[in-house]
Formats: sequence, structure tokens, C-alpha cells
Amino acid sequence: MATKNTKIKPLLKGVLFGVLLFAGLYGNIVLHELGHFSAASYLGLDPEMHLFEPAENPTGFGFLAQDNYVSYTSATTELSFNDFLVALAGPLANFILAGILFVAFLMIPNTKPTLKAAVVMLMIPSLLSAVANLFPNPGVDGYVVWSYLR
Ligand SMILES: [Zn+2]
Repeated sequence: MATKNTKIKPLLKGVLFGVLLFAGLYGNIVLHELGHFSAASYLGLDPEMHLFEPAENPTGFGFLAQDNYVSYTSATTELSFNDFLVALAGPLANFILAGILFVAFLMIPNTKPTLKAAVVMLMIPSLLSAVANLFPNPGVDGYVVWSYLR
């Protein structure tokens, strides 16, 4: 019985980590869009959230073939300070979550390595989302942010 248990436990941990990683990915997407939505709402831009709508250019991967974005009304077609703030709010939400998770990681005692690893698994998508969305490429938030600052 003991040998059976030692084989199942690592498998369960592996499954749990996989679930956690995907939950982290999806959670970060939703949190990121909530950042945009909150900023647009605060600025009175009448935002609408579009989560997991079919993408115009599907990548082939199920979860990547979905578009996630927030639309809002703008008084002007020119890039405005409001556009800058709304664009920045998404990656900022991911940075804040990564910071909270980092503090949690530091507070968890070393005697709980699985929990520490789980927090890191959640922190990785937060950081990736924040950094990837700040690149100045068309289609990501960084493009709006850096275009406004130029
Ligand atoms: Zn964004």
C-alpha cells in the first residue's frame, strides 16, 4: 500500500501543478483585462469586457486562439492620456499580483516547499504577462504606452 501511495502522490502533485499553471494563466488574463476595465471605468469611458472571443488570427492553440480585450469609447481618434492610462493598467494589474505573490513566497516557511513552488507557478504567468504586454509591438498594450510616451 505504501508503494502505491508514493507513486500516486507525485502524480497528483503534477496534475495539481498543471491545473494551477493553467488557472494562473487564465486568472492573469482576466485580472489583466480587469485592470484595463477598471481604469476605463474610472475615467468614465464606458468600457466593455470581451473575454475569450474567437481571435481574428487564431494561433492553433486553443487557449491562444481567443481574443481578450476591453473596448471603450474615446472622444478622440488621436492617442490620448486616457488611452495611455487604460493600456498601462493591464500590465500594472499583473505586476501588482506578481508583487503580492512574491511577498507571499517570502512569507511561506521553507518547510513548505510544495506551497512555495505553487506560488512561484502562479507568479510566473503574472510576470510574463506584465513584461510581454509592455513590449512596443502593435497589438499589445506596450505599443500604446510607448507610442504615447514618444
Ligand atoms: Zn492589455
